[in-house]
Amino acid sequence: QLVLVTGANGYIALWTVRRLLEEGFSVSATVRAESKAEVFQELFASYGDRFQWVEVADITKEGAFDVAVRDVDAIEHMASPLPGSTNGNPEEYSGPAVNGTLSLLRSALKFGSRVKRIVMTSSVGAIVRINIPQDFVFDESHWGDEFLQAVKEHGSAAPELVKYRASKVLSERAAWDFYAEHKAQIGWDLVVINPPVVIGPSLNHLKSPDDLNISLLVWYQNIAKEQSDTLLGSTYAFVDVRDVAEAHVVALKKADAGGERIIVCEGTTTWQDTRNILSNLRPEFYAGDKPVLPRGNPDLQRQVLFSYNAEKGKRILKLKYRSIEEITVDIIADFEARG
Ligand code: NDP
Repeated sequence: QLVLVTGANGYIALWTVRRLLEEGFSVSATVRAESKAEVFQELFASYGDRFQWVEVADITKEGAFDVAVRDVDAIEHMASPLPGSTNGNPEEYSGPAVNGTLSLLRSALKFGSRVKRIVMTSSVGAIVRINIPQDFVFDESHWGDEFLQAVKEHGSAAPELVKYRASKVLSERAAWDFYAEHKAQIGWDLVVINPPVVIGPSLNHLKSPDDLNISLLVWYQNIAKEQSDTLLGSTYAFVDVRDVAEAHVVALKKADAGGERIIVCEGTTTWQDTRNILSNLRPEFYAGDKPVLPRGNPDLQRQVLFSYNAEKGKRILKLKYRSIEEITVDIIADFEARG
């Protein structure tokens, strides 16, 4: 079985490609430029011709994937702009997110005669809302429409995260609409994976923290830098990158995943709680007059404001996700191994 993975040099995608290869799939990987494919040599050369890559320079171009979708049995669509990767125009998020998705789906419609399933990486950004009552529990029935409104009102001045989330709402909707419209003509079904903040060890080449993927960079900044109590007390939901990759692989195999959007999330916590966990597990980082890591405010009152109901994913995919303790220790071990 040959699987096409778009944006295959990305943080989540590299783990996904690795797990696909380990599970016996062959992989055709797309990247935007040849230089982005360098990382593949070291990671996947041992798989020989079970791994190949192709350049798709502009995913928004009509027909961009016409060749790439031929002969593939399934597609994992991961390429999409992340917060901070544009110069702030909302179109720079939504353009590639929506048109990249639609050009891929149109190519699959025309030339993907072997395709049985398309798995798209959306985000809880397409689900979450800001204006919620205390302890609100999000599930797959929710949509982040308020971000569309915010982008409409504020344009480029809207926060990067808001523009990003709007692009995830729009691209996921575009995929579901396309799927509904063409159901009678296609031989594939659609699965959407919605992860929260994805953290855990990286397979990417990293020379400095600047090279970290945005979600791991946020983790690094909130754990390794001085931060305000407001930030440290703020709520975030998390999942390990290896579990998100596993979910993408298993989603290809489970018949009842077809037609579902699936939250893949281990839990919700605060940044201070994460520091507290790390200080219990690795007290040496916080010892002495000049600790390696800032302790923050250990007594900060814990107030987790929302959570995600991830039961559907656990039921369909039958996965157990790594705990925050395991993720935290593994990130630190990864950073240590890189010096
Ligand atoms: P990365 O930044 O590591 O990877 C993103 C991938 O998308 C890269 O291959 C990148 O290519 C490609 N890409 C970005 N912008 C464009 C564009 N304009 N045109 C074509 N390709 C583009 O991010 P992640 O691995 O974290 O993200 C992968 C997917 O997971 C995305 O869809 C993201 O929205 C989603 N996601 C991520 C979460 C997280 O916390 N990390 C949480 C929820 C969802 P290049 O390297 O050339 O820029």
